[in-house]
Amino acid sequence: MTDAKMPLRAKVASSVSRTAAALSRAAGRGDGSVIGGWIGLKIDPDLLAHLSAGRAIALVSGTNGKTTTTRLTSAAVGVLGRVATNSFGANMPSGHTSALAKAGSTPYAVLEVDEHYLAQVLEATEPHVVALLNLSRDQLDRAKEVAMMAQLWRAALVRHTNVRVVANADDPMVVWAATPPGDPARGINPPHVTWFSAGQRWHDDSWVCPECGSTIQRSGDQWWCTGCALRRPEPQWVVEDEGVLDPTGAWHKVSLQLPGKVNLGNAATALAVAAEFGVRPVDAVSRLGIVTSVAGRYAQVDKDGRNIRLLLAKNPASWLEAFDMADNAPTLLSINARDPDGLDTSWLFDVDFAPLRGRQVLITGDRAYDLAVRLDVNDVPFQHVRTFDDAIRSVPPGRLEVIANYTAFQDIRAELDRVI
Ligand SMILES: [Zn+2]
Repeated sequence: MTDAKMPLRAKVASSVSRTAAALSRAAGRGDGSVIGGWIGLKIDPDLLAHLSAGRAIALVSGTNGKTTTTRLTSAAVGVLGRVATNSFGANMPSGHTSALAKAGSTPYAVLEVDEHYLAQVLEATEPHVVALLNLSRDQLDRAKEVAMMAQLWRAALVRHTNVRVVANADDPMVVWAATPPGDPARGINPPHVTWFSAGQRWHDDSWVCPECGSTIQRSGDQWWCTGCALRRPEPQWVVEDEGVLDPTGAWHKVSLQLPGKVNLGNAATALAVAAEFGVRPVDAVSRLGIVTSVAGRYAQVDKDGRNIRLLLAKNPASWLEAFDMADNAPTLLSINARDPDGLDTSWLFDVDFAPLRGRQVLITGDRAYDLAVRLDVNDVPFQHVRTFDDAIRSVPPGRLEVIANYTAFQDIRAELDRVI
């Protein structure tokens, strides 16, 4: 809906939301997108719906990869025209509201959605397409939420059968959530769902079938339930070598500035979502290369002859992905356990650190000693360093990979901002 067509209350709310965001930015309190949206929604609780009307919207949700996939999807959909999108971290309704108010009238929007808010945001934005990436435990104390989240997603999607769904065929929880209730054998290829395969390294949250409780078996890429008809659907979009196969069987080379097979998978998802808007992969693929670092992730900084690359790993699944993205080079691991990270570090024992054997491994952070115990049990030799500067001095010139969890990542970013 353009500003002119919005109800008066929505217009006022939208304008106040923009002003509050600008004031918050001016006061040096982040980019203001959360507070601006929050105030706007207080004035008009339907503001997100008003701002969404008239736009073709894609929502991107899942435990991991949603920020990057949102960036890549925005770039791909940008072939068609201006795209509104939310800034990093502002992935709840207040952030969406602020993003749309700030962007003004755009024909398209691609919004990253916190997985807990998907039902609410579906309701408010009436999107054209929803991308479902994966569901895994975020922190150990939240492990039970995986099955519950799949249930919430499924219930929400059942109420919106007109919405196109682009979903990960490799994640049993996602397949189940995207498949309407009933006989999974009939439901496995619902016409409104497009499946992609991005590969999945983390399987520990999907050994039990969400439909019947039986064991899920795997062989190669395939998985199936031993007790019912739930199984891996045939994906239409597939990562192959350094590119993506589209549903017609055409292969597109994908040249990203982002590392790892994980990001090729995110690119496949972005192309699949853009295709739902009518974007041809051949037109979108070159635009994916413009995405560089995402909120500081994958950022590369040169200091004292070291090329330092930052990788964020916030939960067990994303640690495995980070090992895959990192070059075979000296690697600094940093772990904190402050509020945003979760206070319990026992999840370290869910992660197999064996891929780091043979690399020079350094550890630091508030909870470096927890990491030390884990690496010792895992037979990965390591060296403890007190500061980031010590780490830089301890490695030879060349690449230094840094893998850190949330607040440790922020600490290192702040330290790098001071030195460069
Ligand atoms: Zn089953």
